[in-house]
Amino acid sequence: MFKWIIIGGGMQGSCIASRLLEEKKVEKEDLLIIDPHQQPLARWITITDKIGMEYLRSPLVHHLDKNPYSLKKYATAHDYAAAFKGQYKRPRLDMFNQHSLDLFNKTGVMECWLQGEVNGLTWTEQGWKVCVSDGHCFFSEQVILAVGVNHIPHYPVWAEEYKGTSSISHIFEMQHNLPETGDVVVVGGGMTAAHLVYALTQKETINSVTMIKRHPLRIHHFDSDPGWLGPKYLNKFEKLTSYKERRTVIQKARNKGSITKDLLIKLRKQETLGNLCIYTGSIQGVQEEAEQWQLWLENGERLKASSILLATGAAIERPGKNWLDSVIKQLQLPCAPCGFPIVPASLEWKNGLYVAGPLAELELGPISRNISGARKATERILQQA
Ligand SMILES: Cc1cc2nc3c(=O)[nH]c(=O)nc-3n(C[C@H](O)[C@H](O)[C@H](O)COP(=O)(O)OP(=O)(O)OC[C@H]3O[C@@H](n4cnc5c(N)ncnc54)[C@H](O)[C@@H]3O)c2cc1C
Repeated sequence: MFKWIIIGGGMQGSCIASRLLEEKKVEKEDLLIIDPHQQPLARWITITDKIGMEYLRSPLVHHLDKNPYSLKKYATAHDYAAAFKGQYKRPRLDMFNQHSLDLFNKTGVMECWLQGEVNGLTWTEQGWKVCVSDGHCFFSEQVILAVGVNHIPHYPVWAEEYKGTSSISHIFEMQHNLPETGDVVVVGGGMTAAHLVYALTQKETINSVTMIKRHPLRIHHFDSDPGWLGPKYLNKFEKLTSYKERRTVIQKARNKGSITKDLLIKLRKQETLGNLCIYTGSIQGVQEEAEQWQLWLENGERLKASSILLATGAAIERPGKNWLDSVIKQLQLPCAPCGFPIVPASLEWKNGLYVAGPLAELELGPISRNISGARKATERILQQA
């Protein structure tokens, strides 16, 4: 019997695990972290490496250690050059990652790691029963759902029939590598797409790079206003009793599909150099013939491509749906019309079942999915531990 089982070892799950261990809220033998990958943050590290991201979007105090200045100290102690960038001191990605992994080594996160995918969760007389796809089941007093959303890529309607094939790949799919040659089309207008097209323009073996997005490039420093980190916006948000309204507020607050100014400058330069073509408008349909794609664009134009990469973000659905449905029914767990959990400030859904990340966003607001959200969820859950 474990005291805590954490499902998902990304930013959210690993941050909570690390703090539970560091603050001696749990012994290593009483904590289990279940994740399909070999090590913490695997999905984050793979995606950000694939798109060639060099600096985070968030500022230096947003990292996974308790002390907000821990990353600043780490940068100095390890002598990182150009450790932070711009007025908001955004950290270097490789440094951020190493800082996180060093922290997890120190606190013992890896000693509590189990590689596996959860496919069953039930409430029993002995507590929570968590089952993994290889058939093993584990019991725990408390469970934290930290599964994220990035494992459920969003496919636009015209691309749905290619889901699961290698013809059109989504950047969130871990198994696909980037093309090394040919004419590449990237679909999407946010940070992931922008980093990706820039990285592709730097590959000399690629013939052409086209970015297709539905809206003009939107410029924002952050993916939501920093006012969402504290009482400025949260006080009003917390007073909203309609969860439909909370969802609408979250959607409006998130600068979805926006990019930072420095990235815009980099893209415009590549455009001027003739290395990048940016098209605004929707794709009407695609057709594959002899390993070549034809794309029909809104303005009637046709485009040829050898590869199409989707950078269209995650699907808008509650993660863990299949295996969570039975518990939701069994315990009558409250869900909003959007399907996401309704939880109190403690983030406890019921009977020691906690949520973090996107699953906690109707309580924590638009920052819930980010690093600052992981820090906040950690604080709330630790208060109950
Ligand atoms: C390109 C990009 C850049 C970003 N930059 C920033 C930034 O600069 N600052 C910021 O604050 N945020 C940023 N974000 C947002 C956010 O911080 C990251 O997406 C972060 O990785 C989310 O962490 P997570 O733990 O919620 O999800 P994930 O990293 O996806 O981790 C969840 C883990 O749970 C696992 N899991 C899922 N289902 C199961 C299951 N059934 N059983 C067991 N395990 C399961 C997944 O495989 C995964 O390993 C960025 C996001 C992207 C995509």
